[in-house]
Amino acid sequence: MPDVIALASRVTQIAPSPTLAVNAKAKALKAAGADILNFSVGEPDFDTPLHICEAGKKAIDDGHTRYTAVPGIPELRKAIAARFQADHGWDYSPEQIQVCCGGKHGLYNIFQAVINPGDEVLIPAPYWVSYPPMVQLAGGVPVSVPLREEDDFDLDPDILDRYATARTRMIVINSPSNPAGCLFSGRSLEAVGRMALERGWLVVTDDIYETITYLDSRLPHILDVDPRLAEQTVVLNGVSKSFAMTGWRIGYCAGPGHVIKAMNKIQSQSTSNPCAPAQYAALAALTGPQDFPLTMRQAFLPRRDFFVEDLRSIPGVTCVNPRGAFYVFPNFSAYYGRSFQGKVIGDSVALADYFLDEAKVASVPGAAFGADAFIRFSFATSLEIIQEGMQRIKDALGRLS
Ligand SMILES: *Cc1c(COP(=O)(O)O)cnc(C)c1O
Repeated sequence: MPDVIALASRVTQIAPSPTLAVNAKAKALKAAGADILNFSVGEPDFDTPLHICEAGKKAIDDGHTRYTAVPGIPELRKAIAARFQADHGWDYSPEQIQVCCGGKHGLYNIFQAVINPGDEVLIPAPYWVSYPPMVQLAGGVPVSVPLREEDDFDLDPDILDRYATARTRMIVINSPSNPAGCLFSGRSLEAVGRMALERGWLVVTDDIYETITYLDSRLPHILDVDPRLAEQTVVLNGVSKSFAMTGWRIGYCAGPGHVIKAMNKIQSQSTSNPCAPAQYAALAALTGPQDFPLTMRQAFLPRRDFFVEDLRSIPGVTCVNPRGAFYVFPNFSAYYGRSFQGKVIGDSVALADYFLDEAKVASVPGAAFGADAFIRFSFATSLEIIQEGMQRIKDALGRLS
């Protein structure tokens, strides 16, 4: 039967989040009894620290169960400003800060507040799955700028320049990145910062993995390039990854006052405020002990080292060593064109499907991130599972002809 109700064209041009979709399929197979090892998950395998949970419960007991100010409770915005000051030396007033329903929602608010139809947004690829559809939902045009594996996915300013036009309004930076865990070097950020200043671009810097790095040195940041960039940069961060709080849905943005005000307008007419008790939990996260991300990092490091080394031991597979976040992003394109039981595996979607069906390993095809040569595996899971998963992947690849 044909659907009675037609859908908006804006919906038909985008797809549901592929990472959430793979995760759902893996969970369904698992529930049906299949022995699935799930590497598709984009969240830490840690519970939210106890003192943060207690603060959330106490907020409910204290009656913080009503609407709050649209951009978030003043105490939390003050705490966020203080964190930015302590961690980076940045001067943001609480009015320049918006608390939103997760980092993803903050990005949505930014694009809705700034983009006009036809505006182009530069998005270095591999990119996080949600940037292009969110730009499209705002009427903008996502422009994918290729990063090269041989550069460790650092941004090459000359390549960036080739994709910039008179219609470019914005660039999205994500360092460390999802899906490759790559960083942009101080040198390339310097060049991007200069371009943004000269051409009046808005810089959106998604810093959600800032606290999860495997560096000994300081993570370079675009706002360190030139203080004037603060007037045309929106910083996005949140507690989802740093404090294992994905389900609480608290993110935050800092930027020029008029941009944040416009984002507040969007938020006031859509979600109102972020969940009240979750804001108190985030307050406890940002004002309490800051060693939790380090604890996670220590757990992630040996897993990363094993994963990368074992992937590199597979003939034809290359893998950049991630320097942040909790994903490996190996290049499997040497296996494209091989077949299983007469069926050719031609791309990342087919190979990830093959891994799921034949190895009972859930991963995310690189096509979802604008880089079809690759597959993303999360190492937010135990070393034992990674070892078992790698054995299954190697066996499955060995069955290809
Ligand atoms: C996880 C993630 C976010 C935000 O996640 P929320 O759960 O919405 O806070 C933003 N950007 C990237 C690159 C991410 O991986």
